[in-house]
Amino acid sequence: MSILVFIEHRDGQLRAVAREALGVASRLAASLGGPVVGVCAAASDPGLAALGDAGAERVLLATHESFKLYHPSGYAAAVVAAVKAVGPAAVLFSASAMGKDLAPRVAARLGVGLASDCTGVEVEGGKLVAVRPVYAGKAVQKVAFPGTPALIALRPKIFPAAAGAKKTAAVEPLALPEAAPESRARVTRIAAAAGGKLDLTEAEVIVSGGRGLKAPENFNVIEDLAEALSATVGASRAVVDAGWRPHSDQVGQTGKTVSPKLYVAVGISGAIQHLAGISSSRCIVAINKDPEAPIFKVADYGVVGDLFEVVPALAEEVRKLNAHV
Ligand SMILES: Cc1cc2nc3c(=O)[nH]c(=O)nc-3n(C[C@H](O)[C@H](O)[C@H](O)COP(=O)(O)OP(=O)(O)OC[C@H]3O[C@@H](n4cnc5c(N)ncnc54)[C@H](O)[C@@H]3O)c2cc1C
Repeated sequence: MSILVFIEHRDGQLRAVAREALGVASRLAASLGGPVVGVCAAASDPGLAALGDAGAERVLLATHESFKLYHPSGYAAAVVAAVKAVGPAAVLFSASAMGKDLAPRVAARLGVGLASDCTGVEVEGGKLVAVRPVYAGKAVQKVAFPGTPALIALRPKIFPAAAGAKKTAAVEPLALPEAAPESRARVTRIAAAAGGKLDLTEAEVIVSGGRGLKAPENFNVIEDLAEALSATVGASRAVVDAGWRPHSDQVGQTGKTVSPKLYVAVGISGAIQHLAGISSSRCIVAINKDPEAPIFKVADYGVVGDLFEVVPALAEEVRKLNAHV
């Protein structure tokens, strides 16, 4: 049976999460013995034929002028129409901001189950099983699906992006039942983060600060290290609640789930709700003056010391290394 993948785009460009989902789809399709088909809703083709190199055999494209930005009911109608046309075993989304909004809408329209924020998908005994962290990352849940299609939203940046197949995908028009779908919610614009820095959910390197910074102006220490590492700045909830940083910077259970290659936690104690958002980071470095701080239990590298001494010294060393590259 085929695997359907929802293809995200922004500013006329395909998003990396689309290739991540196609990589998972190709692996599943190889086990289940069917093709990988993409579905995209856009104002114009964002270069879908190129997804052949990521394993897509064909991509169904629903076009409408109002599909330039995310259009909840229109995009949901497109995925539902593609499901009806293709009859897939599974539909894969990214658990990105868009995917988290879209996947439940599609699940409700189809009356099928959805496993969200998955960190693994396998075929066991011919059936799909999704793996997802629960209880703030304290436990891992395996989810099976009684019906088809299985809807699965994949945590961004966990799965490698697929490429290199040297093939071109066939792009086919997808007709929607309604010519101009009405939506009760609309995205009117996307405000880019200041300074052109990547969003936390897409960042490869993050430097986060917590209450140990003691005052909002001391975040310049964090920003300086982030600058040296070309990193995005994050924050614990304590400092967001105190109004030191915007909510868009918050990492954790009630903030963003991040999966960078390097996460540097500075003056952050490591409460379970913070750890819930960073558990899929590849390498965690903690800087904290308290050797008993829980963050050290999950850190790959730890520095016990005063952040006001350690962080500027670290930033200096990184700058020296950068100068030699
Ligand atoms: C329902 C719920 C949801 C939540 N969601 C989130 C969430 O999404 N994200 C989140 O972060 N939290 C969340 N929290 C809050 C969480 O429980 C913690 O209160 C919060 O993470 C603590 O932030 P912190 O580590 O910055 O502060 P603290 O716990 O106060 O830790 C400050 C740390 O700084 C260290 N420190 C102090 N001075 C220095 C210095 N000079 N040098 C080095 N280290 C120093 C201290 O040793 C300490 O470990 C949530 C809580 C609840 C109840």
